[in-house]
Amino acid sequence: MNDLGGQTIFDLSSAGTEGVTVPQPQVPSPGASWRLPESNFRSSLPDWPEVSEIEVVRHYTRLSILNHHIDRNTYPLGSCTMKYNPKINERAATKAGFARLHPETPDADCQGALQLMWDLARDLAAITGMDEICLQGSAGAQGEMAGLLMARAYHRRHGEHRLRVIIPDSAHGTNPASVTLAGFESVAIRSDARGLVDPDALAAVLDDSVACIMLTNPNTLGLFERDIVRIAGMAHAKGALLYNDGANTNALLGLARAGDMGFDMLHLNLHKTFSTPHGGGGPAAAAIGAKRALAPFLPGPAVVKRGETGHEQFAREAPGPDSIGSIHPFVGNFGVLVRAYTYIRSLGALGLAQVAQDAILAANYLRARLATEYDIPHPGPCLHEFVASASRQKQHGVRAGAIAKRLLDFGVHSPTVYFPLIVPEALMIEPTETESQERLDAYAEAFLQIAREARHDPDLVNSAPHETPFLRIDEAKAARELDVG
Ligand SMILES: *Cc1c(COP(=O)(O)O)cnc(C)c1O
Repeated sequence: MNDLGGQTIFDLSSAGTEGVTVPQPQVPSPGASWRLPESNFRSSLPDWPEVSEIEVVRHYTRLSILNHHIDRNTYPLGSCTMKYNPKINERAATKAGFARLHPETPDADCQGALQLMWDLARDLAAITGMDEICLQGSAGAQGEMAGLLMARAYHRRHGEHRLRVIIPDSAHGTNPASVTLAGFESVAIRSDARGLVDPDALAAVLDDSVACIMLTNPNTLGLFERDIVRIAGMAHAKGALLYNDGANTNALLGLARAGDMGFDMLHLNLHKTFSTPHGGGGPAAAAIGAKRALAPFLPGPAVVKRGETGHEQFAREAPGPDSIGSIHPFVGNFGVLVRAYTYIRSLGALGLAQVAQDAILAANYLRARLATEYDIPHPGPCLHEFVASASRQKQHGVRAGAIAKRLLDFGVHSPTVYFPLIVPEALMIEPTETESQERLDAYAEAFLQIAREARHDPDLVNSAPHETPFLRIDEAKAARELDVG
């Protein structure tokens, strides 16, 4: 599979080969005139591979296709929304006027970029039912952190010091982590047999020491919290705020709004719901939304509109006295904002609603196709994702992680496994709206065949993958002991 028999770029190095020709320096070589200690200068060149430009291109192209990549095939990571990212977004984001804009450019000279942010914030407010949107967050987890600091500032303003935050046991791991980091105590509540928040369990822990309830809706089982209006009423009756982890809002676009359900604050992962490729670890951006009462506490600076026309129409405004302050240099990850804006404007209101409907249809179709071989502990209908369980396969000694590895042999990526924690042997599948029926069928066939293999030849599954250039990669070790040398 690897066209050079697994050779690395270091193996390809040949002394004296150059990829670029660097001009002779026109400044004197470093020496005594430079006020740096001698020990700071290199005495020899670094041990870098010496290869031609084309070998560098081939090297990175080769790496990008081992073992799977987003442009190759289905990548249905639940809770991660690995949707196709339309190329028009890249075209807009890489326009020189956006990509080369310096953040210190005076407002009068970057009205277009400021208007884009102002319009994007208005669009997101309309999509979510929030009153104000801050675009400064650099990731979903930072949005959560900001929301919690806002909750604290809000309660302090009302002379209260509330210490507890309620989170359901199906929550994304960042929720309890953010709560702890923000200095609150997290209180977990069990989901009921439906996979939803149990209002009675909530009532039992909800009192006036609770600052906030943090909910994902649809939750991480892909289910809509049917009692959300009642839950919001219960929270507000005790003076607590309701925060929506809206990292994955695919299923609601154009159909329902967190603001109308009673949420006071939310974050949206622009890099999930509103495109931007994020599989390789970034970049990301979170929009943080707030209802009127919470808006003064939002981070900043924000883009404001001062007049109807002119060079000073849009301006960056420093955060006000109640704001929790700045959480990112300048206004945020602007390139991601351009992609989100392009995504929204190229689809329009009806197109966004179609995204939601197609995402829901794709997930339900796949759920129905897998149900013959896999347990679905919380049978649907689901929204943009569903959680199957490999507990039947486990009886033959095949666990969810092995199924995930075997899927690679079919040229597709696995779903999220072992999350949410409340489903044993969880396989959390989010096909997204961008997969055709043919792709969904091929994905289902792979899953069904693996279920048959689990019964008849479990070793085949447990020793997978067999076809990929690299076999059983220990990803946790690779992430923890990063060695790029
Ligand atoms: C991805 C995700 C997050 C965290 O977002 P990051 O950008 O990775 O920090 C939080 N909650 C849910 C439900 C998510 O899917």
